[in-house]
Amino acid sequence: MQHVNAEGGCRCGAIRYRAHGPVLSAAACHCRDCQYMSGGAPAYVIVMRKPTVQIIRGMPAHFDSLADSGNRRRRYFCGTCGTPLFAEDSGFAEIVTVKVGSLDDPSLFEPSAEFWLSSAPPWHPINRELAGFERGPT
Ligand SMILES: [Zn+2]
Repeated sequence: MQHVNAEGGCRCGAIRYRAHGPVLSAAACHCRDCQYMSGGAPAYVIVMRKPTVQIIRGMPAHFDSLADSGNRRRRYFCGTCGTPLFAEDSGFAEIVTVKVGSLDDPSLFEPSAEFWLSSAPPWHPINRELAGFERGPT
């Protein structure tokens, strides 16, 4: 997955976005914050440069927290239906992660790495064919 030209949005339709540009990384993140935001699973994300992801309808709500990495993370979600949409990280100012489940076609996703395996619960399957990291991509 080198490049994406896709649209996405939240479950209720209040927020729509376009992602058009190179995919810098495609990964699963098992950090504790992502578990909260997903309901238990890791977050499945594509990583893109901020200008290549544009909101075309609505305005997401956000929540700031201190991540396992020590960086500040800002997570964007629909304030009406709660769908997780994007995240930004103070350690990576130029990029945004897009939650794969919010793409109109999540089958576009081809993960290449799994991060924060040290935070994954023991019952969660790990894909050993992907690059695995105990911590984040710093
Ligand atoms: Zn919504």
